[in-house]
Amino acid sequence: MTPNALPGQPHVAYRGDQLFVEDCCLSELAERHGTPLFVYSKAAMLAALAAYQRGFAGRKAQICYAMKANSSLAVLQVFAQAGCGFDIVSGGELQRVLAAGGDPAKVIFSGVGKTRAEMREALAAGIACFNVESEAELEVLSEVAQAAGQKAPVSIRVNPNVDPKTHPYISTGLKGNKFGVAHERTLETYRRAAALPGLRVVGIDCHIGSQITETTPYLDAMDRVLDLVEAIEADGIPIHHIDFGGGLGIAYNGDQPPAADALWAQLLARLDARGFGDRQLMIEPGRSLVGNAGVCLTEVLYLKPGEQKNFCIVDAAMNDLPRPAMYEAFHQIVPLAPQAGTPTTYDVVGPICESGDWIGRERALSVAPGQRLAVLSAGAYCMSMASNYNTRGRAAEVLVDGSQAHLIRSRESAADTFRHEHLI
Ligand SMILES: *Cc1c(COP(=O)(O)O)cnc(C)c1O
Repeated sequence: MTPNALPGQPHVAYRGDQLFVEDCCLSELAERHGTPLFVYSKAAMLAALAAYQRGFAGRKAQICYAMKANSSLAVLQVFAQAGCGFDIVSGGELQRVLAAGGDPAKVIFSGVGKTRAEMREALAAGIACFNVESEAELEVLSEVAQAAGQKAPVSIRVNPNVDPKTHPYISTGLKGNKFGVAHERTLETYRRAAALPGLRVVGIDCHIGSQITETTPYLDAMDRVLDLVEAIEADGIPIHHIDFGGGLGIAYNGDQPPAADALWAQLLARLDARGFGDRQLMIEPGRSLVGNAGVCLTEVLYLKPGEQKNFCIVDAAMNDLPRPAMYEAFHQIVPLAPQAGTPTTYDVVGPICESGDWIGRERALSVAPGQRLAVLSAGAYCMSMASNYNTRGRAAEVLVDGSQAHLIRSRESAADTFRHEHLI
């Protein structure tokens, strides 16, 4: 960790009066590439991955990066080169994995609404496993595989009905969520899968939610899944791998999620105690691999003092940073080069014509127009959720590796945003 590193972001630190990611000065990057600009630390991504790799040392485990968290090609390339597989949720994501040099044999395909075309593509690519989310999907996948003369490898996503104690929009393992097969119907669903001619049962899967900061929900889910594995195997259907999903949280605002290796030390102890320690394991982490590896740089356009609130209007907006508008999520906001002077309390907002277009509320900042800010913890679920709302081109992205800064995505122009439209 660099001295003066920001809390929770060991690769983001002030040197003198300038904010750096690794050995790159962010003011210089903003000058060169403009704003809004996403900047990622390769070392931070690899350090986050290493925590999982340490946790699984000596085990049979495959880490499948849940790429919807950040699916930029160079980010996928970093993880592919580090040995990761990928958890995909669409045919488009499969094409990205292939374009980034990922190994299709390490790809698992999740999601409640896979189309026949997506199933065909994934079978042709030779992916490791389909995580099937309903009985209806089993039937369709079997048909598609049979037509292709194949047996699709399947794992059934079970809904363990545990409360991950996170935001309702990002909890997925409770009854009433659209995800997975109900705990009570699991055995029957496995029997059906084992009987279908186009399928080959290989595993079981669960994923209970996102931004989880406690260990207990994971232990509870593990117990429920292992109970199911015992019941399914007693029924004569062998389960080769167990996939415990993703969901580990990161520090956005003093949150204290367990470290990945500490979490897995506890989970593996439970697994060993129950006699499943030598099983092939899989996990699907997303946010915890990339969230704190990225920042979004933005320039202050205007300060607008008001009777009730002061607004700091910046050039990044909800199309770049959708999490506050979607989940009232918190991102820390810090200056690239701190200014002296008494701070004022501002709502930091973007230029989009929506009251929901805010990035941070009631932040004490000492800023002037033309100054730049960094929105922290912006590596996950920001660029991958970015849109062109208000005909704003999506931001550029830079991947920092030591003192090298690679432009990994060029800024979209307005013409790019309407390239596929046609006048009548
Ligand atoms: C989104 C998702 C993940 C990753 O969740 P994180 O909270 O980003 O770790 C893993 N598995 C599935 C099925 C998902 O939908």
